[in-house]
Amino acid sequence: MRSCNRKKGKGVNCPYSMVVGWGEGWIMDKLCRLHRKMEAKAIDALIVTGSENRRYLSGFTGSAGTLVITETAASLLTDFRYVEQAALEAPDFEIKRYDEPVAAIREALLENKCRRVGFEGDLVTYEQYAKWQKAIEQVEWVAVSGLVEELRMIKEPEEIAEIEKAAAIADAAWSELLPKMVPGASERELALELEFLMRRKGANGLAFDIILAAGPNAALPHAKPGDRLLSRGDLVVMDFGARQGGYCSDMTRTVVIGKACQQTRNLYDIVLKAQLAALDAVAPGKTGQEVDAVARQIITEAGYGEQFGHGLGHGVGLAVHEEPRLSPKGDKVLQPGMVVTVEPGIYVPGFGGVRIEDLVLVTEDGHRVLTHSSKELLELGADQV
Ligand code: ZN
Ligand code: ZN
Repeated sequence: MRSCNRKKGKGVNCPYSMVVGWGEGWIMDKLCRLHRKMEAKAIDALIVTGSENRRYLSGFTGSAGTLVITETAASLLTDFRYVEQAALEAPDFEIKRYDEPVAAIREALLENKCRRVGFEGDLVTYEQYAKWQKAIEQVEWVAVSGLVEELRMIKEPEEIAEIEKAAAIADAAWSELLPKMVPGASERELALELEFLMRRKGANGLAFDIILAAGPNAALPHAKPGDRLLSRGDLVVMDFGARQGGYCSDMTRTVVIGKACQQTRNLYDIVLKAQLAALDAVAPGKTGQEVDAVARQIITEAGYGEQFGHGLGHGVGLAVHEEPRLSPKGDKVLQPGMVVTVEPGIYVPGFGGVRIEDLVLVTEDGHRVLTHSSKELLELGADQV
């Protein structure tokens, strides 16, 4: 039986591992690590309702369910629709069917004699909290946040494999989209085509709504694809990702329609230089802030500091935006197993924008880039009449 690292020094098994019928392995490790975090917050139970946290801890992919994790028990409470699925997907959890969720949570907490109960302070609504507090007044409710999210920052090999698959789907879809990017094609049609391509290549869905913005629209970092038709000289920013096995990918490429003018080339070269330098700086021990500063310095020295108004990157996993952040405020230290984006950009109102984004895995000795599409400035449809 696997012992919890927390107790190793004392030679005592983690209470989790003593629960009869529990398996070993990844889920078990995660629960042990979570247990240590719960102890640090002095809570003896944690209620998990956030869908990504719930999936991460239990394996359950359904849309309704609550995890109740205590020192010696882990229950997944769900309704009639999901009982069978939950039993298959979350074998390490005790599955309990409910008709009324609050009553089921109450029972699980009182059964385990819980006193201080943590809940996801940044995800639970005030109304939900008030309901729990009213119905289960025997316990003290404590808003905690980031407990599971901190565990999620470090990816296991199984998770990295899913992210790599999602990244490969996006890479392959993008290269097939390129021949369709000609003057006269619409942003909306191209975005739809990109979605088709990713789904045909096996994506379970999109990691997020595709950004495909041409010409002046490319100056809006989060533009929605609209009716604009691509025309010569347009910069086109495409930011997209696939979802695979629950995990996201995220990449951005910028191309030019027809021939690039000098300003376009100049902007592109600055962003690419900043992106390559920041990628190079990704290594364990660096903070998000330090990596951000590498790109920001290059862009600022080129005179475009004000036009790079967002952070350099973010963690990617079950959610497309998660910890750690690579930004001027990113104080988390990079560790092996983290997957982050590096995506500097310059946005010039009325003209357009350039952003280049890769996914990168932090490794023991540096990093490994997971996005493989070319970053040369492509001039598309230049030979078309
Ligand atoms: Zn992106
Ligand atoms: Zn991103």
